[in-house]
Amino acid sequence: MNLSSDPFQVLMKGGVGFSSVAFLPGGVQIPLIGLGTAFKAGGRPEEFKRALKAALLDADYRHIDAAWYYKTESMIGEVLDDLFLKKKLDRRNLFITSKVWPCFWNDPEISLNHSLHDLRIDYLDLYIQHWPACFAKVDDEFGRVAVPTDSRKNAVIDPSGDYLVTYRKLLDIKNSTGKIKAVGVSNYSIPMLQRLMDETGTIPAVNQVELHPYLPQLELAEFCKSNGIIVEAYSPLGSLGAPILKIPLIKEMAASYNVMPVDIIINYLLKREIVCLPRSSNAERIKKGFTFIDLKDADVEKINNLGAKSPKRYIDKIWAYWND
Ligand code: NDP
Repeated sequence: MNLSSDPFQVLMKGGVGFSSVAFLPGGVQIPLIGLGTAFKAGGRPEEFKRALKAALLDADYRHIDAAWYYKTESMIGEVLDDLFLKKKLDRRNLFITSKVWPCFWNDPEISLNHSLHDLRIDYLDLYIQHWPACFAKVDDEFGRVAVPTDSRKNAVIDPSGDYLVTYRKLLDIKNSTGKIKAVGVSNYSIPMLQRLMDETGTIPAVNQVELHPYLPQLELAEFCKSNGIIVEAYSPLGSLGAPILKIPLIKEMAASYNVMPVDIIINYLLKREIVCLPRSSNAERIKKGFTFIDLKDADVEKINNLGAKSPKRYIDKIWAYWND
C-alpha cells in the first residue's frame, strides 16, 4: 500500500494516539496532535520549558507548533538543544512547525532564519504563512515591529502587498534550500485557498485555522479535504482559560465516556481527521496525556451542531473579518 498517495490516509500506530499521523503532499508524516506554544512568558520561562519537557519526555508529543510571533522559539530551542545533547530525543523523530508573520510578508527568509536560529535546528518540517496579510515594514532596535499601528491603533497594511507573494516565496525557499520540508497556510478562507490554487497551480500542505465545537468550520474542512489540504485546529480549547471545556454538552459527554472534557475535544478532532494543537503550560496536566476513545459518529454530529448555526471566534475577531 502506498500510504503517501492519499494525503488523508491516517495512520494510527497501535490505535489512536500521539503517534497517529496523516500524510502531507510528498509523503511527509504529520503527527495529529501537536503542542501549541503561544505562551505569554512574562516572568515565567521556567514554567514554559518544564511544560515542553513534560510534553516531549512524558506525554509522547512529537509535534511542536511554534511561530516567530509567539516569542517562545528561543526557549523551545534551549529545551531541544539540551534534549538532543543528552540524546533523550532525536531531531528526526520530531515534527517542528514555525510561521512567518505578515510584517515579513516580502522577505520571509529573514523570518525563517530567525526561527531556525532561535529553535537551534537547521530545517523545519512545516513552514506556515501565519496570516494572509501584508503589514508595513517598520524596523526598531529589537528587530521588526510585528504589528505597526496608526494613530487609531489599526494595523498599517502595505498597499503594495499581496499575500500570495509570501506563499510563492515560501515555495521558492522550499524548492531551493533544505530549510523547509512542507509549506502551509493559516487563516485562509475558501475564496483565498481557491485563488491560491488557481494562481499558483499548487496546494498548500495545511490550512491552520481556529476550530473547536463553537467554530466547527464544516464547510472549510470539507473544501480542504476535497482538495488534499490537511486542516489544523488552533485554539481547540477556546484559548485562554479553555472555555470550550466548560460547555455543558462536552461535560456531559465526558461523564458518559468516563473521561475528561479535554479528551472529548481531542477525540472529536481526531475523529474528523483534523490535526489538533492544544496548549498547556502546566507540566502536571501535560504528563497526564489524553484518553483515546472511539467517539460515536452521533456524538461528533452533536458537537458539530453546537457552533454550526452561530459560530463563535475567540481569536483575532477583527482580522477574521478580512476572511469572512
Ligand atoms: P488552547 O485552545 O489550546 O487553550 C489553552 C488554554 O487551555 C490555556 O489557558 C491552558 O491553561 C488551558 N488548558 C489546556 N489544557 C487544559 C486542561 N486539560 N484542562 C483545563 N484547561 C486546560 O489555546 P491557544 O490559543 O494557545 O491555541 C493553541 C495553539 O494554537 C497556540 O498555542 C498556537 O500554537 C496555535 N495558534 C495559532 C494561531 C494562528 O493564527 N495560526 C492563532 C492562535 C493559536 P494551562 O496553560 O494552565 O494548562
